[in-house]
Amino acid sequence: MKTIPPIKRLGTKLMMYSIIVALIPIVMLGAVSINTITNEMNNQAQDKINNDLKIAESILGLKLEKLSSLNTYVATSNCIMDSIVNTDYGSLKNLATATKISSEADFVVLLDKNGNVIARSNSNVTGDDSYSELFFKAVSYDDFSFIEILDLETLKYEDVEDIVQIEIKSDISNETLIKNRAMALVSIKPVYGTLGELLGASMAVDILNNDYEIVDIVRNSSGDATTIFLDSIRISTNVLDGDERAIGTPVSNDVYTKVVEEGGTYYGRAYVVNEWYFTAYEPIYDSDEKIIGILFVGTPENKYFTLLSNIRDQTFVVGLIGLLIALTVSLLLNRIIIKPLDELKHGVQWISGGDYTKKVNVTTDDEFGMLARVFNEMADQINSSNEKLKKHAEELKESYEELKELDNLKSDLIAIVSHELRTPLTSIKGYVELVLDGTMGTINESQRKCLQVADDNIIRLRRLIESMLDLSKIERGELEMYREAMNVKDTVSDVIEYLTPLATEKNIKLKQDIKDLLINADKDRITQVFTNLIENAIKFSPANESIMIIGKETENGDVHITVKDNGAGIPKKDLEKIFDQFYQVDSSTKRKKGGSGLGLAVCKSIIQAHGGTIWVESELGRGSTFHIVLPALIYEESIVE
Ligand code: ADP
Repeated sequence: MKTIPPIKRLGTKLMMYSIIVALIPIVMLGAVSINTITNEMNNQAQDKINNDLKIAESILGLKLEKLSSLNTYVATSNCIMDSIVNTDYGSLKNLATATKISSEADFVVLLDKNGNVIARSNSNVTGDDSYSELFFKAVSYDDFSFIEILDLETLKYEDVEDIVQIEIKSDISNETLIKNRAMALVSIKPVYGTLGELLGASMAVDILNNDYEIVDIVRNSSGDATTIFLDSIRISTNVLDGDERAIGTPVSNDVYTKVVEEGGTYYGRAYVVNEWYFTAYEPIYDSDEKIIGILFVGTPENKYFTLLSNIRDQTFVVGLIGLLIALTVSLLLNRIIIKPLDELKHGVQWISGGDYTKKVNVTTDDEFGMLARVFNEMADQINSSNEKLKKHAEELKESYEELKELDNLKSDLIAIVSHELRTPLTSIKGYVELVLDGTMGTINESQRKCLQVADDNIIRLRRLIESMLDLSKIERGELEMYREAMNVKDTVSDVIEYLTPLATEKNIKLKQDIKDLLINADKDRITQVFTNLIENAIKFSPANESIMIIGKETENGDVHITVKDNGAGIPKKDLEKIFDQFYQVDSSTKRKKGGSGLGLAVCKSIIQAHGGTIWVESELGRGSTFHIVLPALIYEESIVE
């Protein structure tokens, strides 16, 4: 029984198909959902950042507003008016200090109507015109609240050098320029007298360099990283570079170009300090609408990726569960389909091995169960038919044995009877011949005719006995062959010579076309065969016909002899049967022609005993051709010598 390789088994195929069927939707759903979630997450992250940028912007604005409102309160107070009018420097100084504290500014400066400093919160230096330019701008605006760039030269009397200084951690061309400058919330409020005349101004400044208040407020409210850039450098940030805030580090070139040089807002991914962020960058303008820096909010991609990888893990787990379910289903299918199939396969093997008694055990009520029931019924039927056949075979065997015994008895009987008949028949023939040839005295013509008929019948009887004896010998396997090298041509010529008188009686010509053909055979038996065939041809040919005997070599060197007559012919249905014992084509003609129906049976046995074949071709009414093929004689060297 051929074994099926594991991969070709139905069970394995079912399992593979189930896994494929489970995997396709899992993979597709996984891919689609991860893709959708990723896109959705990116969009949401970016939306949030964009909103948070607005929050950061408002917080910066609120801080400026707070500074401005307190400054306005001071600038519009009677106290400052009186102090300026009365040039009371002492109270102006106190006012500047108090305003600084209440507005949480880094310094407050009071100016006279020419823009010259008349009081400072952080020092006692007065009389300089460090802020005159801003002062006149503020007077023209009436209310001046802006983010401005102030350089250290301007701030030299404010004692703020320490908080302004930024250590730049990059090679940039304008390092000195940025290093010595401060970005600051500046509020300047002109002070007017009772008649509306300009008396001076109050100026409150909150420096953003190294001031983390605003960025931390933004982070506390939105959770995002926030940075204020002066030009391209971080001056206030909660983005960490290692353990420290990344103060002094520059913005990426892409962002700088987009925001500072082109004046646009940058949204999207950006590399911030040392990792990728979802970001939003917006320009910061001064009072001249000039871009002086950037406001940034961002959130690291990392935390979204962690979320995404969690989702991926979960999808993987769900996929794994799906696969396990598919495997379980395929195992169940295996039980439902493969087991009954296996049972049926065993059933078929039992039957092909000849065991019809075993039953296939499938008890399900599905198609397999039905198939198994039908299979078992079929096995039952085969079994009972087999039993019957066995019984018949037994009976046939018994009948055969009986027939064989009878046949043996028949052969024995024929042998005994033939043998016993032959001796007295020879004696009878001898005496009839003695009387016929006149040895016993003269006989008259009618006596001679009667004796001649008796002699002919004795000859026929003797030939019948000879044939019967031959057949019984053949059946008992006692027919002996005395083989020798013989020339078929000579034998045929002898037979023709012998039968010529018989043929002449019917004016039939016996012609031969035969070569010298040597065979190794029993000459007497082969003579018997040719005699029988030619005699039959004469017997079944009308008068004045001819009979042709041809002998030649076949392609493979055998000897092929044909005896062809133009006689009655043999019906197709009888062609095979005429070689059977006692078979004659037409029982009505047999009486006319005589014969026993044994001749061809003996011929066939003799030819087969020589390893040859005999057959006939015939056309009814046109004649018959008997063929004999015998193996040619092969000389071996020893024989030649
Ligand atoms: P028989 O002694 O009757 O001739 P055979 O065995 O020699 O017995 O022949 C069997 C039968 O085959 C014949 O009775 C005859 O019917 C048929 N047969 C044999 N040879 C010829 C032939 N040459 N032409 C026609 N029929 C033939």
